[in-house]
Amino acid sequence: MKVLEKIKLDIPEDIGKDFLTKLMGGMLIPKMEEMLEEKKEICLKSISPKAVYDSFEILEIKGDIVHFRNGSSFNGPNVSKILKGSEVASIFICTLGADVDNEIKKVSESGDSLSTIIMDAITTSILGLLGEYMGKLIRKEGLRQSNWSSTCSYSPGQYKWTIEEQKILFSMVDGSKIGVKLNESFLMLPFKSISGVYGFGYEANIDKTRVACDLCPREDCIGRR
Ligand code: SF4
Repeated sequence: MKVLEKIKLDIPEDIGKDFLTKLMGGMLIPKMEEMLEEKKEICLKSISPKAVYDSFEILEIKGDIVHFRNGSSFNGPNVSKILKGSEVASIFICTLGADVDNEIKKVSESGDSLSTIIMDAITTSILGLLGEYMGKLIRKEGLRQSNWSSTCSYSPGQYKWTIEEQKILFSMVDGSKIGVKLNESFLMLPFKSISGVYGFGYEANIDKTRVACDLCPREDCIGRR
């Protein structure tokens, strides 16, 4: 199991602007642009990006169930579709840390809804960058042979993979190494965290789904890629 602390992310000047613009229906008022700048500093001071990940051999996939050699299994039509043809799966958890959750909670409890929305847009965008950073790293490390390729990532809670399966994922990769745990609804705490799985195997066999959004029916989702 690998643990990464103090991950350095390349954060653009206008982080959060695209997300917030989509959220606001395509336009930002000047006040919001000013607040983006102001809140960015607070968010950047509060984040501490970390990750933990490991790889596991896939024994077989029968129907919707992915059986790992270590005895664990994932169950779902989309996760089994994505991992079909993979020899190995890399499972990861990454987080921006608890401090940023606390900052947003403090602002929210003060009743300042606009600042809360803006800080949420900024940190959701930074979390997206952390996910991309981890994707690049995991994909680079996971290709064991030149004729191997990787799948897109998939996460518990995405379409047709129940959030309860976070429990299996967390039994395979120890989120506590980076301070991430599950609450009674199987949501990750801190909230600004992502978990998921990538498959690796022979290019000819690997699932070619471009991104998880291609399997998702939420056409109007602002996170759609
Ligand atoms: S469309 Fe939205 S909800 Fe569906 S997988 Fe993509 S980001 Fe997630």
